Amino acid sequence: MLNRREFFHSLLSYGKQKEEKLFVLPPYNFDRSLFYKSCQECQKDCIEACNRVCKEGIIKNNGEYVYVDFGIDGCKLCGECAIACPNGVLEVKEEEDWKNGANWNVAIVIEEDLCIAHQKTMCYTCKDICQSVLGISNAIEFIGLFYPKINQKCIGCGMCIKSCPSNAIGIVERGNV
Ligand code: SF4
Ligand code: SF4
Ligand code: SF4
Ligand code: SF4
Repeated sequence: MLNRREFFHSLLSYGKQKEEKLFVLPPYNFDRSLFYKSCQECQKDCIEACNRVCKEGIIKNNGEYVYVDFGIDGCKLCGECAIACPNGVLEVKEEEDWKNGANWNVAIVIEEDLCIAHQKTMCYTCKDICQSVLGISNAIEFIGLFYPKINQKCIGCGMCIKSCPSNAIGIVERGNV
């Protein structure tokens, strides 16, 4: 499991140990191998599309393929990167339900040992952000006043990650489903 600090460190040291690093791949991909086959020679239309919809685009290029940097911001799940991709690497399949069809390669988790709420300091920052995305019935559940957990409703947008004051929200690899 990588916490946010380790995640960004992993991006910086990617050149040295790329086989061990976990990148957040852009949403709407259903065959991870396509990133390695098609991105290098592409004009990176997905980056351009994301730059148009976000204040600062969150899709970046690591020289080999593209990845999402949740340290900049979360993903709006707008689908524009998939619409722009000319090579079928990104493709919106569930047009009626873009949020649930993102198919991220990572899942978002709270690392309990870093979370200040788990140490009994009141903090609802991540829940407030999640509520702004998903509404009142959001993906961060508290057990009592403390002990938040991310539940199945999480759409992987990453909006909560940079909001956490203790870098307790991280990513773990998710299967290619
Ligand atoms: S537009 Fe598609 S093929 Fe091109 S870099 Fe982005 S994901 Fe890869
Ligand atoms: S879905 Fe939208 S915000 Fe998310 S990476 Fe694609 S273009 Fe950027
Ligand atoms: S990544 Fe999941 S838990 Fe975090 S704001 Fe988005 S939906 Fe909520
Ligand atoms: S914002 Fe961070 S520290 Fe606060 S409750 Fe959420 S995970 Fe814990």
